[in-house]
Amino acid sequence: MSTFRILAADKLAQEGLDYITKQDDCELVNKPGLTEEEYAELIQDCDAMIVRSGIKVTAKILENPGKLKVIARAGVGVDNIDLAAATEKGILVVNTAAASTITTAEHAFALMMSLMRNIGPAYKGMTEGKWDRNKYTGRQLMGKTLGVVGFGRIGQTMAERALAFGMDVVAYDPFINAETMMDGRVKMFNNFEDILPLIDIISFHVPLNDATRGILSAKTYPKCKDGLYVVNAARGGVVDEADLLEALDSGKVAAAAMDVFTSEPPTADDPLRNHPRVLITPHLGASTKEAQQAVSVDAADNCMTYLRG
Ligand code: NAD
Repeated sequence: MSTFRILAADKLAQEGLDYITKQDDCELVNKPGLTEEEYAELIQDCDAMIVRSGIKVTAKILENPGKLKVIARAGVGVDNIDLAAATEKGILVVNTAAASTITTAEHAFALMMSLMRNIGPAYKGMTEGKWDRNKYTGRQLMGKTLGVVGFGRIGQTMAERALAFGMDVVAYDPFINAETMMDGRVKMFNNFEDILPLIDIISFHVPLNDATRGILSAKTYPKCKDGLYVVNAARGGVVDEADLLEALDSGKVAAAAMDVFTSEPPTADDPLRNHPRVLITPHLGASTKEAQQAVSVDAADNCMTYLRG
């Protein structure tokens, strides 16, 4: 039986490392934190390489890849891997998108709940010695209409949770050809602007591409109800940040929660950081212990499935 050497080039959750060492046909090479030159040499004798976001897999590393056949990203974004160089060398690049679905949807849901109950400013006030009971009257989720933009894995998981809280849910996804989803409980739309007059809260679960960049902007706010709540745990840039600030100031947007930013991290003086009605987290969507364990096991599994053919 041939033995596949799997290089862990970032610090992986122990579950993923154990999963590799348990296999009869795999050998773990656990070497996070090496230099570019060291990886360039080490990969030549490895069949697979697993990374998170802590290492840049450059063209220089891949210049002479030896027997390397697959790079697995334990996580979603593959922007730290030179895809053109990998493709040129015939190396497959895979990610573990599904493993962080529930975790990311839970974060978006937590942002939505926190936004509606003013958890951010109320907490900040408490730490400053205040007791603002009258200032932070919130809004209840039950009976509100949530607009889910992008009805893939995370969007659907978000919708399930919203339905369980007694919310109405509509969704926009031009790639889903159905009038309703989830046993008729979610009305589907193929035109973004059609959902806007219906919704109290909008939550984004789309990739960033030419069609989604700035999809919520000065152009689209006029179609929205006044006092919209905005949640973005997808990608920075989906919500135009400058237009959002204007919409907050005009009252079109009641409050916004953002886990992702056009430029990460946003600068210290970015107005989103200090706006009293903006709740921000530092790209924590996929950051749970459970998701980190799941992505490391899935990344190892993806390598093995490919290597075993
Ligand atoms: P997915 O591929 O399962 O779903 C994406 C959905 O978006 C698909 O149904 C697709 O049809 C739809 N879509 C594509 N283009 C669209 C458009 N122009 N308008 C509307 N819908 C469109 O992906 P997923 O796993 O659900 O992840 C969704 C996004 O969440 C990812 O692309 C990523 O940007 C983001 N994400 C963020 C974090 C975080 O840490 N905050 C973690 C994981 C994922």
